[in-house]
Amino acid sequence: MNTDDTCTHTDSTLLLGLEGMAVIKVEETESGLVVHVATTEEAARACPACGVLSATRKGGRVTRPRQLPYDGGVVETRWHKSRWYCAERLCPRTSFTEQTRQVPAGARLPAQGGGRRAER
Ligand SMILES: [Zn+2]
Repeated sequence: MNTDDTCTHTDSTLLLGLEGMAVIKVEETESGLVVHVATTEEAARACPACGVLSATRKGGRVTRPRQLPYDGGVVETRWHKSRWYCAERLCPRTSFTEQTRQVPAGARLPAQGGGRRAER
């Protein structure tokens, strides 16, 4: 068995700065490139409630985590996110959306122009 094959997408991943993600498809559109990524990190399948890794995919949806400047234009990303069934039968959380350190589930991207500043 040659495990080197799993590293095929690493360059693209580094290029886009999305650790733990793999590029699954690149589309060329009128407004620029659209890069489709999916999570490769095993930890993304860990239930947030009990930590047990899931092996059963429930479904998925596509989110737009960010736009990235690239080669004088903008590259849009489409993150193909999966939902998983929790493998632990006693867990109150029956299913969950995968999450990574890069983009936690439900997190909003920080607004441009700096953080909130307390004023009085
Ligand atoms: Zn669980």
